[in-house]
Amino acid sequence: MTAVTDLEALAGRAGGELEGAEPLDVLNWAVAQFGSSWCVASSMADAVLPHLASRALPGVDVIFLDTGYHFAETIGTRDAVAATMPVTVRTITPAQTVAEQDGQYGPRLFSRNPDLCCALRKVAPLESALEPYHAWASGLRRDEALTRGSVRVVEWDAKRGMVKLNPIAAWTQDDVDAYIAENGVLVNPLLSDGYGSVGCAPCTRRTREGEDARAGRWAGTSKIECGLHT
Ligand code: SF4
Repeated sequence: MTAVTDLEALAGRAGGELEGAEPLDVLNWAVAQFGSSWCVASSMADAVLPHLASRALPGVDVIFLDTGYHFAETIGTRDAVAATMPVTVRTITPAQTVAEQDGQYGPRLFSRNPDLCCALRKVAPLESALEPYHAWASGLRRDEALTRGSVRVVEWDAKRGMVKLNPIAAWTQDDVDAYIAENGVLVNPLLSDGYGSVGCAPCTRRTREGEDARAGRWAGTSKIECGLHT
């Protein structure tokens, strides 16, 4: 097992050296460093990152957090990815069902305390799911929101003591759209139905003209991130 201090130094160096590299080169670097001990986390808004990752490592693990609150379209996208792509989808569920959570905390926790709801249904399950790996990859992009403007293509995830890969950090929406078109990548149908970003159904609305892509997430509250990337 590689020492955590070594991994941290590795992430720091690679973050500088791989800036400007193609996403596939970032993922090939991950294979060279970690073999198959890395995974992708996907919200199933689209399958761009799973597609790229499967080119670097056929059969790569793709983690999907099934909060129990997803749109049917998102579950359908997950199932289509699992059925048609050379990846291994791992569906991760929270410790409690929605009904059990309602019993302990009361119904609609998402409307009263979304931070706690996300902690229980997303953050804690992801932490357990990531334990077997040295690194994980996300589809974060700098142009998605101001809070994501300083994301590096490789960085140190101090909270989890592992390397984090953001291979498409520098891509724009146009880059993503071009990759989808060129490669016939699966896309969640909600993205062509007015949603700029896809999260849990109770906490996601369609975006309006001129809003940034994530404006429909937790709209009307001060919450802007679920806690997976902070
Ligand atoms: S996005 Fe909403 S429903 Fe989903 S886990 Fe967070 S608070 Fe709960």
